[in-house]
Amino acid sequence: MLIHELSVSQCERLLERNQLARLACALSDQPYIVPISFTFAPQENCLYGFASVGQKIEWMRSNPKVCITVDEIIDRFHWTTVVVIGRYEEIAPQDVTARRRAQHLLQRRPQWWLPAAAESADEPQGGAVFFRIHIGDVTGRRAGSPDDPSATPHV
Ligand SMILES: Cc1cc2nc3c(=O)[nH]c(=O)nc-3n(C[C@H](O)[C@H](O)[C@H](O)COP(=O)(O)OP(=O)(O)OC[C@H]3O[C@@H](n4cnc5c(N)ncnc54)[C@H](O)[C@@H]3O)c2cc1C
Repeated sequence: MLIHELSVSQCERLLERNQLARLACALSDQPYIVPISFTFAPQENCLYGFASVGQKIEWMRSNPKVCITVDEIIDRFHWTTVVVIGRYEEIAPQDVTARRRAQHLLQRRPQWWLPAAAESADEPQGGAVFFRIHIGDVTGRRAGSPDDPSATPHV
């Protein structure tokens, strides 16, 4: 099996066609990871999300350094994965422009406010926040066929 390194634009295309990530944050040397929905905004090089206020938000408020993985996995031999190192920024309720922008982007997904506001689906603002992850570094890898001439032997 060969592992192909993805270019930044290939990573960005994967981020554009996916909406589910694993978001890792950390506090006091303890990592924490949860599945999360997102929308990629290529013009701003960031990921937008909407989340219930709980452990992950409290931890990211304390330590905004995060890591995100997004993947397209068929099986152990056929997969593409992207890893993003980024910085959490919460969008303040009074920042109407940024909130409108976030909502506009997230609306590409039906019922975008779920599951973050599952208890108050008619009023998605209650107990949940808009946020964005500024992408600092992005890498991608794809498990490919050995007969692909662009493949880079990895292991
Ligand atoms: C496909 C998918 C998409 C999702 N999209 C979003 C989204 O866009 N926004 C959003 O806010 N949430 C989303 N979730 C739910 C998310 O994964 C978390 O469960 C949720 O946000 C609560 O996380 P919290 O840190 O606030 O937990 P809290 O409610 O503060 O609870 C913390 C405790 O619950 C445990 N816990 C939290 N989440 C999980 C979990 N998923 N599985 C097992 N244990 C858990 C933790 O280990 C910890 O002990 C999604 C989940 C899935 C499966």
